[in-house]
Amino acid sequence: MRSLKNINLDLKKLILFLAISVTVITFLNGFYSSYQVQKQQLQSQTLKNHNAYAAKLVSATDRFLLAAQQQLAYSAKILAIQFNDANTLAQETQRLRLQTDSFNSTVVVDKDGVVLGLSPLSLKLKGQLLESDGAKQALAKKKPMISEPYISAAGNLIIFISHPIFNSQDEYLGYIGGTLYLKQKGILHDLLQVHFHKDGSYIYVVDKSRRLLYHPDVARIGEQVFGNPVIEAVLRGESGTRQLINSQNIAMLAGYAPLKSASWGIVTQRPLGATFAPLDGLMMNVLYRTLPVGLATFIFIWVLARLISQPLRQLAETAKTLDNPSTSQQLKQVRSWYYESSELRLAMLKGVGLLQNQIGLLQHEAQTDPLTGLHNRRSLEFMLDQLTLQQTSFTVLAIDIDFFKRVNDEFGHDIGDIVLQSLATIIVDVTRENDFVARTGGEEFIVILPNINAKSAYLLAERLRMRVSETIIEPVGSINISIGISGWPLMQLSVEDILKQADQALYKAKKTGRNRCIIDSQFIQSEFVEQQ
Ligand code: GH3
Ligand code: MG
Ligand code: MG
Repeated sequence: MRSLKNINLDLKKLILFLAISVTVITFLNGFYSSYQVQKQQLQSQTLKNHNAYAAKLVSATDRFLLAAQQQLAYSAKILAIQFNDANTLAQETQRLRLQTDSFNSTVVVDKDGVVLGLSPLSLKLKGQLLESDGAKQALAKKKPMISEPYISAAGNLIIFISHPIFNSQDEYLGYIGGTLYLKQKGILHDLLQVHFHKDGSYIYVVDKSRRLLYHPDVARIGEQVFGNPVIEAVLRGESGTRQLINSQNIAMLAGYAPLKSASWGIVTQRPLGATFAPLDGLMMNVLYRTLPVGLATFIFIWVLARLISQPLRQLAETAKTLDNPSTSQQLKQVRSWYYESSELRLAMLKGVGLLQNQIGLLQHEAQTDPLTGLHNRRSLEFMLDQLTLQQTSFTVLAIDIDFFKRVNDEFGHDIGDIVLQSLATIIVDVTRENDFVARTGGEEFIVILPNINAKSAYLLAERLRMRVSETIIEPVGSINISIGISGWPLMQLSVEDILKQADQALYKAKKTGRNRCIIDSQFIQSEFVEQQ
């Protein structure tokens, strides 16, 4: 089993862990779901915007193409009357090209496809047969039309918008047409070129053969794109939104709408990354704004964890030293401000009270002689240690009852005990409060007299001896005692030696007739030396 000492977890750490993990999880969850919601909203909003934008561009382009056709129709009416006037033809083509920015070049062609007038003249096509796709289509259809893109005689990628010219007899005279250069600057570019904030958004226009009519990458204009779902959808005449991967492998959000005046579609799209870019800033902002409250929450949790754990920690610390006398005091100082800790503290206080009563009793018993209530030998040793530690000088009286065996023999052991108790009372009575009285053997006593010289000790011992011999103890009568006296410090002698010397003095007293006090001779000498 794991030792408790190895457990490094405490209540405070556990509360902190619990509270902080719950807070962090809640915060992360909130953060993540709000991120997701924002992302979804941003995505659907972007898709909607791009669809609306494509629709707007479609209507502008439609209006432009319609206006271009109307201009051609108006010129066709004028030229129907003056078709043979070279001047009018020249003026009209010039006006058409210069009055508005609708066309990059304008041309009037007769019913055989020969150029009668054109602008700009720099094209040098007058009198030539126009054999371009647009020209052939216009001649063949004899209807207002917008051609598919093709390479012109001058080498430009163009679309050709034309209107037939009929005279008043409804005879086909030819047509008037204008070109839009797809790769050069022109009205279509101005119309479609939008300055997105360099975030990778762009617009492109496709015709029904999936050819790019407009693309920000000019090199791609004229290119045919197959398999693009957005192009397929817009050419089916659908208007909508879609997320897709473009030809550069970039995820895009696209909005698209088809034109009415031509079979074209306009697609506007934005990279997914650019769409979500503001989100990162937004979420960082959210993070910064939540930080102070988060920090305050953390501090609050920390303080609370401390407050909750503190009383229990103090109780636990106190529990380690239940036998310490200051434990009750420590327990009283614990601020147990909530139910469990307060109940625990009360229970511990009760327990400690009981325990210390028991300890007190045991200690008393361990240090007391049960017969006389005096100190015992163990207590004496402790006392001697204390005195020597404190360097307190003291005198020892070793006391022994004379012929005690006879008392026992004559009156019995129980009466002997009574005699011992009576003697104990007398000794306590004769000595002072600070003196220390112990029963160290059967009928042997040791008295320690702190801070007293040999003479005073001797006088006290004598007084004691007299008191004992004068006292009648029923039914024994009077008894006598012999006393040996020694003292500490005495030269280099240890406490044990001092006790031995007192014993030897006692032995001497016994030998020399009993009922007397004898001072150890060295002890008298040392006193004498000291007095000198
Ligand atoms: P002495 O004058 O030489 O000391 O003679 P004594 O008879 O007192 O001899 P000693 O000190 O050797 O005898 C001790 C006697 O004390 C022996 C024993 O019967 C008695 N005694 C020892 N302990 C107890 C006790 O606890 N109660 C009683 N009643 N008698 C005890
Ligand atoms: Mg004895
Ligand atoms: Mg004796």
